[in-house]
Amino acid sequence: MRSGIVLRIEKSSLHDGDGLRTVVFLKGCSLHCSWCSTPESQSPVIEQGYGKIMTSEQVMQEVTKDEVFFFHSGGGLTVSGGEPLLQADFVAELLQESHHRSINTAMESSMCLHFDEVIKVLPHLDTLFADIKHMDANKHKDYCGKDNTMILDNIRRAAAWKSSLKLIARVPLIPGVNDDDENMRSLGEFCASLQHLDGVELLPYHRLGVGTYAKLGRRYLLPTVKTPSAEVMIERKMFLRQYIDNII
Ligand code: SF4
Repeated sequence: MRSGIVLRIEKSSLHDGDGLRTVVFLKGCSLHCSWCSTPESQSPVIEQGYGKIMTSEQVMQEVTKDEVFFFHSGGGLTVSGGEPLLQADFVAELLQESHHRSINTAMESSMCLHFDEVIKVLPHLDTLFADIKHMDANKHKDYCGKDNTMILDNIRRAAAWKSSLKLIARVPLIPGVNDDDENMRSLGEFCASLQHLDGVELLPYHRLGVGTYAKLGRRYLLPTVKTPSAEVMIERKMFLRQYIDNII
């Protein structure tokens, strides 16, 4: 039985996969996105009370408390972060145990790790939410700390790996950073080129984590960026529709 560092466990989420989900957020991330709304998830160690060590059995005890809701709603377990693949063996154990219990599984990942880590979890995954933050390698490095070469390659490989894997690209729409026509066109062309993709989720930038930066003694790097309006979200969605049908 493995142990992992868990940031928190949230119940009854409606936004992280099919049905009602229990979301297990893990500590540690390979990126440092300027807009990150969970800066407390980035460090791989327990800091200022954020995070605790749990065994896979302890996590599953929490997850299975909601089994009846999963059954009625078609929901299940979603693993998120931070970056869950930094603890890929632990995640694989959670997902495998879930499948043994016929619990649906999902993971949200930045995909910024070697494919050897990705492949540890794919066999036990029903839905993969793969983040795409910027299509330009240099801008990705400027805003997130690393370029996107490995990320895009991993998404290509995951899309080709098994057609029954539900693959959703998650794109945070950050005004002035990645919402221009050039980036959206490049994103659309990339998505259209994948062997399979079940949809693109466009997520409006929000400032929910700003207070946590102050708590951690860190500076928030995008103090003037505002949440895009519903009109802007719809217009960008229609733009992306030129390349891919299912925009969520
Ligand atoms: S990948 Fe997600 S958790 Fe990691 S820094 Fe970026 S926004 Fe934050």
